[in-house]
Amino acid sequence: MLVGGELVAGGAGSYDIVNPATEAVVGQAPEAAVTQVEAAAAAAAEAFPAWSRTRPEERAALLDRAADLLRERMDELIPLVQAETGATLRVAKTMQVPTCIERFRRYARGALEPTTIPLPPSEMPTTALASGGIMGAIAVRQPVGVVACITPYNFPIVNMAGKIGPALAMGNTVVVKPAPQDPLAVTVFGEVLREAGFPPGVVNVVTGSGAEAGQALVSSPHVDMVSFTGSTPVGRAIGEVAGRDMKRLLLELGGKGAGIVFDDADLPTAIATISSVWAFHSGQICTAPTRVIAQRGVYDQVVAGLQQAAGRMKVGDPLAPDTVVGPLISEVQRDRVEALVRAGIEQGGELAAGGTRPELDHGFYVAPTLIVGCKPDNAAVQQEFFGPVVVVVAVDDEDEAVAVANSTEFGLYDYVFSADTARAMRVAKQLRTGNVGINTAQRNHEAPFGGFKMSGVGRDGGSFGLHAYSELQSIVWPG
Ligand code: NAD
Repeated sequence: MLVGGELVAGGAGSYDIVNPATEAVVGQAPEAAVTQVEAAAAAAAEAFPAWSRTRPEERAALLDRAADLLRERMDELIPLVQAETGATLRVAKTMQVPTCIERFRRYARGALEPTTIPLPPSEMPTTALASGGIMGAIAVRQPVGVVACITPYNFPIVNMAGKIGPALAMGNTVVVKPAPQDPLAVTVFGEVLREAGFPPGVVNVVTGSGAEAGQALVSSPHVDMVSFTGSTPVGRAIGEVAGRDMKRLLLELGGKGAGIVFDDADLPTAIATISSVWAFHSGQICTAPTRVIAQRGVYDQVVAGLQQAAGRMKVGDPLAPDTVVGPLISEVQRDRVEALVRAGIEQGGELAAGGTRPELDHGFYVAPTLIVGCKPDNAAVQQEFFGPVVVVVAVDDEDEAVAVANSTEFGLYDYVFSADTARAMRVAKQLRTGNVGINTAQRNHEAPFGGFKMSGVGRDGGSFGLHAYSELQSIVWPG
């Protein structure tokens, strides 16, 4: 762990990290003592005044240097993150590590973005309090202070880079707590940031459980903001604690992406797009269109296409180059996914693919699973799997498609497949969701990213993400 510029062992001991594919122990992670979490937050608070006054060019250079060092250590990081997450090699090589480097580069540039916003002068009437006249004004983006960055297990270092990059660029100091299942690469990350030359206390890394280290961090009086990505129930609990002390919040929470496929859609594109995200990192991705809403005219073709796609997905050893679906992160997560599949079927869904454990000697696998003929209120339609499971609901028309899409508590990422651009745009604007993809699952990383409803509060992404780590200050003067 990295506390106040020192690399330290866990005060509460250490615990085994298990490879989800082989079930072998691949390393030991430090378990932070609550006093170490508090020391990390205190170090971040002490470092904040000086760091917040550094020149933007200096912050940019340090973030770029960190990206360079991460690139130098890619050959070490890729197998490490692969082993602790169970990601396929393709996911580890293309997403887990390079995306994290890109985020550092993006926010190195972000440090140089203007923080002063000129405002038009306004004329004020004479009152009992003041003599009126023209008032000039600017708004200034100020850093918030100490940011607690708490992340989930699916993309440990990518999620972390997406938080500490903009937080540091904006002049905040940070305490990072990764998910307990796979924190090893994040601890390397801590070493890299120290080597890059960030002053002691500017970046701190503590590892351990949510109940101990996570709660201690959120409750710390030194913490001014909590930037959390994870499940909705934990996000809600964090919001309650943080709200008591008016800590600023950025919450990126659960999703249950709708993939609306209209009669006029290009079906091969729709099916290929949905399938690519279905299988991606074994469905452990919050933006996946796992709730397919198909118009009746194409319903049978959509089901048949998804069934064929499931049959083509090779499940197994994540190190094999042709593996598409690897394991889930843990036995607990596999059991959770299987229980929700059973509930979906008990509530009237029909199994069209998967639903069983693949025949493998080790690992926490769930075969790509397709549940069709679901009513909108089926638990499998309403609740998040975070696994390789897609459900399909039939609808008659546009209005019903929108109503079903909007019927869950989530609102993170939905998709519209239609050849009619005007219709796709019209539907997109009616969706109560933070993000909509039209005929694509590609993202634009400069676009604001975040959730409506129980999918979160605030926005990541590009300059919006940078601004999330700032407070707006107005400065007003006469003349
Ligand atoms: P989780 O909520 O169980 O854990 C996330 C993090 O919170 C972990 O570091 C955990 O230790 C910590 N934590 C747990 N209890 C805590 C507490 N009381 N106080 C402080 N910290 C606490 O989530 P997970 O199982 O790791 O990840 C899966 C979830 O993350 C899914 O719901 C998924 O949709 C969501 N997710 C959302 C996004 C997004 O951008 N919206 C991205 C990735 C994952």
